[in-house]
Amino acid sequence: MRLIDREEVAERLTYPVCIPIIREAMIAFSRGETRQLLRSIIPLSAPRMFGIMPGAMAVDGPYGAKLISVSPDNFAKGRQSHQGLIVLFDPETDAPVCVVHAGEVTAIRTAAASAVATDALARPDATRLAILGYGEQAATHIRAIAEVRPLSAVTIWGRSPDRAAALAARMGGEFEFPISVAATAEDAAAEADIICTVTGAREPILHGAWIRPGTHLNLVGSSYAGPAEVDTDLVVRARFIADSREGVLAQGGEFIRAKKAGLITDAHLVAEIGEVLAGTIPGRTSPDEITVYKSLGHVVQDLASAWALYMADNSDGE
Ligand code: NDP
Repeated sequence: MRLIDREEVAERLTYPVCIPIIREAMIAFSRGETRQLLRSIIPLSAPRMFGIMPGAMAVDGPYGAKLISVSPDNFAKGRQSHQGLIVLFDPETDAPVCVVHAGEVTAIRTAAASAVATDALARPDATRLAILGYGEQAATHIRAIAEVRPLSAVTIWGRSPDRAAALAARMGGEFEFPISVAATAEDAAAEADIICTVTGAREPILHGAWIRPGTHLNLVGSSYAGPAEVDTDLVVRARFIADSREGVLAQGGEFIRAKKAGLITDAHLVAEIGEVLAGTIPGRTSPDEITVYKSLGHVVQDLASAWALYMADNSDGE
């Protein structure tokens, strides 16, 4: 059985490789071609969790599962907060053929999914990016968003200005555009065309009142029912698009809070990103509209990325 480790994923699953893979996977998902169960989450001693995500790219396509631990306290210890395995089964033989480092795939595919959504939903002239959070997803989101818009400036905000500055300095070595630190989340939002929330916040760190017309947001940090990184006002004001309708109605923290408050109904989730990409439902409908992409993360993103690595590897070697 093939093992694709962290270093190999980081080297080969580049953003130019991963972004088109995610785009196709999300279109296939929204067309109903893929098969998956809603993610199961086993709560361990707080704040640890264990996620189980099974799926198939098609009824006769590659299939498998991601098994992933989520341990927010790992960030302070210099470890990945998401660690685990993606196990791939070959549809020809129905044998398990490959195990892939899930932490690294998750870091890259999540940012690639936000890049796909940004490309589809942000204004064409969007160039200024704000990142809320300075963990692993903050770094991968800067790299991924830079692939789909010609960024002119990036601003990072987080609870520790020193840690935000450390990420800005580290990422500054990779890019020509300036990367600076904002004193507050409101300051970061004030200048941004695109905002990515990639924090472990359980209560809103970003408010609708702070968002300029025309902004696109990728809400990534809350990936199960409970935490909300943005307030209900922002949810209500936005054209709200998700990776998975079923997933976000069941597990999308921000959406569930706004619905429980009686401010929206399920119809407020206007489209899955795969429907926008396929052209069946419009994305942004005006330059002044605020658009939101709610990312919970989806197993088809993991399976498609992992299978592409496995297949390219097989055809290289034969
Ligand atoms: P990391 O653990 O590497 O970083 C977490 C970041 O959140 C740090 O900047 C941390 O900084 C910050 N943070 C934690 N609590 C708060 C708070 N209350 N307010 C503001 N900032 C806070 O995680 P990742 O970068 O890997 O992931 C970021 C988030 O995205 C996580 O919540 C994760 O579960 C989620 N995620 C979502 C995925 C999806 O597909 N949608 C996939 C992978 C991750 P500090 O504690 O110093 O403030």
